[in-house]
Amino acid sequence: MVRKVRRRREDFAAKTAHTLATGFEMVVFEALKTKNMTTGVKPKPDPERPGAFLPNGAAAKAGLNRSILDKGWYRIELATRGKARYTGTQVITVNPAYTSQTCNVCKVVDRKSRESQAVFRCTSCRHSEHADVNAAKNVLTAGRAEFARSGPGVRAGARKPRNRVGRKANRSATAAQTTATAASGLAGIPRL
Ligand SMILES: [Zn+2]
Repeated sequence: MVRKVRRRREDFAAKTAHTLATGFEMVVFEALKTKNMTTGVKPKPDPERPGAFLPNGAAAKAGLNRSILDKGWYRIELATRGKARYTGTQVITVNPAYTSQTCNVCKVVDRKSRESQAVFRCTSCRHSEHADVNAAKNVLTAGRAEFARSGPGVRAGARKPRNRVGRKANRSATAAQTTATAASGLAGIPRL
């Protein structure tokens, strides 16, 4: 069963990487929070009873889910980088800070604009859309800026320019939303 799940995950990563690397000129990933990938959930010592541990169920589960998700994304990122060497697709990693709290229209950063897991509604200009889509646009903007900074040396590496730009949304989404976002990301944004 575990093997089956792992194989399906590898399949998904390979297929996603193929679609990204063959269909897009640029793919932007948020930098992984390495800590989440490498540290397990720490048991909580019970101060009353030395050597015993308090249950930390909810936090433990959240941390674990987060770590599983990050591993999935990392797999996709690695696979995409591997394929991109042959297609010339630019794979760019950007700092994920504030991508989910920034309005992609007016650029105002406000934690309160993230109304819920799914809804982004800018407290400044009232722009509203799916939180993952808003975050993905910010990631793409950051990726384009990074690409512009990286200079002609990097660009010369692109052998077969593509006419679409890939994007990826906030990694903190739930598994279902992550899949949906990856799928919608594949639709891409027409190149400006
Ligand atoms: Zn706004």
